[in-house]
Amino acid sequence: MTNLSYVSGKNTAWQNYLQQLKRVEPYLDEQLQSRLDFLRHPKRALIVDIPVEMDDGSIKHFEGFRVQHSLARGPGKGGVRFHPDVDLNEVMALSAWMTIKCAALNLPFGGAKGGVRVDPTKLSKRELERLTRRYAAEINLIIGPQKDIPAPDVGTTPQIMAWMMDTFSMNAGNTITGVVTGKPVHLGGSLGRVHATGRGVFITGSEVAKKINLNIKEARICVQGFGNVGSEAAFLFHETGAKVICVQDHTATIYKKEGIDIPALIQYQKEHNSIKNFSPDNEIDKNKFWDIEAEIFIPAALEGVITEEVAKKIKTKLILEGANGPTLAKADDVLANRNITIVPDVICNAGGVTVSYFEWVQDLSSFFWTEEEINQRLDRIMREAINDVWSKALQSNCSLRTAAYILASERILIARIERGIYPG
Ligand code: NAD
Repeated sequence: MTNLSYVSGKNTAWQNYLQQLKRVEPYLDEQLQSRLDFLRHPKRALIVDIPVEMDDGSIKHFEGFRVQHSLARGPGKGGVRFHPDVDLNEVMALSAWMTIKCAALNLPFGGAKGGVRVDPTKLSKRELERLTRRYAAEINLIIGPQKDIPAPDVGTTPQIMAWMMDTFSMNAGNTITGVVTGKPVHLGGSLGRVHATGRGVFITGSEVAKKINLNIKEARICVQGFGNVGSEAAFLFHETGAKVICVQDHTATIYKKEGIDIPALIQYQKEHNSIKNFSPDNEIDKNKFWDIEAEIFIPAALEGVITEEVAKKIKTKLILEGANGPTLAKADDVLANRNITIVPDVICNAGGVTVSYFEWVQDLSSFFWTEEEINQRLDRIMREAINDVWSKALQSNCSLRTAAYILASERILIARIERGIYPG
C-alpha cells in the first residue's frame, strides 16, 4: 500500500477508501491489479488560502481545497463542501468515491471534490458570497466545463453554485453555465435535480427488492433523515403502496405501525423545517430507531450510523444507502453473514450525479429537456447500473458494494491503460 507524505492518521476517510480498494484487488486480473496504484494516488490536489473581509472590517483566512482524484474517464465531477471539519484527507476520500461512483454509473466523468473549512451558518449572506467568490477564483485554474465541474454538497446550495458560475464567467468574459451543476433552474440548472437522489434510491431499491422477492407494496420502511434524499425516497415508496412506519430526523423519531402519512409530513417539514410535533403521540426515543422491525431501512442522513452493533441487531431484509458512507466496513461483513442485502451508496444515491450529468449536457448544448425526459433517462441509467452490479455480484460471489467497486475499477483502469502514461 502506498503512503502519501501529505496525508496522515489512522481511521480516516482516506484510509477507509484504501481498505475498500483492497477488497477489490483479488477480483481484478493481474494486469489491472498492477495498475491499482493509480486509484491510490489522487491526480491533483490544490490547497488555497481564502482571505475574506468580514462585515466588521476584519480579515479572516479560510482553508480551501479542490482535489481531482482521477480524470482518466473525463472531466472531474464532485461537490463542494462547506463544513468546519473539512480537511485534505476528507476531500481526497470524497473525490475518490466520486471517481468510483461516476464509473459505476458509467458516466463520462472522473472524480473530484472540493471543500472549505468553514461553518457557513456563522457567516452573513455577504460574507458567504465573498468567501464563495474568492474560493471560485482561487480554483479557477483547474475547473471548467471540460476540466472539472463542481456541484453542491453539505453546506452549499444552488445560490452558492450561481455565485461560482458568475465568478468563473466574469473571469472568462462570457457566461459559462456548464462550469458547475446544481444551479437554479433559470440559470441553466436542470429540472428534476432536486428530487433525483431520492428517486434513484427508489429506482435501485425497487429493482433489488424484485430480485430478492420482496414485495414493495407489502413492505414496511424506516427512514433516517427527512431532507432532500430521505423525504423523496419515502414519498415514492409511499406512493407505491409501501408503509413508511418510522421516520427520524435530527429533532424527532416518529413511529406508527399503520404507516405515516408521508405527503402530510413533507408539507409539515417544509413549514417547520423539522418533523418534531407532527404527531407527538407517535414520537419515540431516538435510540429505538434501529430496534424496529421493517423490511427496508433507508439511512439518508449521516455517515457511519450502521456500526457493528447495529448490524448485529437490525431486523430487516434490505438496506438502501441514501447517505454517503452510512455503513462501517465491519458492519458490512456482519450484514453479509446475516444475509441482509445492501444497495451501496455509490449506486443507490447516484441519481443526483446522474442528473448533474444531464444538467452539464443540457448546458453544453443549450437545449433543455422536460422533467419527463429527465426522469425517463434517469430511470434507464439507474436500472442498467444496478442490474450490471447485481450480475457482477452473482458472477464474483461478492457483495453489491464490492461488485460496484470491481466494475468501476475495471472501467477506470482499462481507460488508464488505453490512454497510456504521458510522456510515453
Ligand atoms: P439534507 O440536509 O436535506 O437532510 C438531512 C436530513 O438528515 C435532515 O432531515 C436532518 O434532520 C437529518 N439529520 C441530521 N442529523 C441527524 C441525526 N443525528 N439523526 C437523524 N437525522 C439527522 O441532506 P440530504 O441532501 O438529504 O443528504 C442526506 C445524505 O445523502 C448525506 O449523507 C448526503 O451526503 C447524501 N447525498 C445527498 C445527495 C443529494 O443530492 N442531496 C446526493 C448523494 C448523497
